Formats: sequence, structure tokens, C-alpha cells
Amino acid sequence: MLRRYIDCRTAPSESNCTVEIAADTENEVLELAVMHAVQAHKHQDTPEFRREIRSAIRTRDEALT
Ligand SMILES: [Zn+2]
Repeated sequence: MLRRYIDCRTAPSESNCTVEIAADTENEVLELAVMHAVQAHKHQDTPEFRREIRSAIRTRDEALT
């Protein structure tokens, strides 16, 4: 099964955050990642920021792990 995920360790931040957000769809990951970024990292929820997050979402095949 394919899984979308975003790893906060790969995002530039000063807080050394190690959170990973994973879901089956890109939109679920995007919504949670935006919430996390706003709450934990004081980011602004803007269309540009959402584009940045979307481009950082990766896919992995859970059957291989
Ligand atoms: Zn984080």
C-alpha cells in the first residue's frame, strides 16, 4: 500500500523537530502538516506555504518496510 508522508526533520527549522506525519492521501498529510507547522513552528497558513509543504510530501510503499 502506498503511503504519503512528510518528515519534519527534512524541513528547515530551529526546533530540531522529529515529527513525521503519514496518511493514505496527500490532502490528509497536507492538512495535518499545515496544522502542525502553524501550531509548533509558528508558520502562516498561506497558499505559498501549502505549495511548499505539498512539494515536500514523499511516497513510500509500506509493503517494503
Ligand atoms: Zn515539526
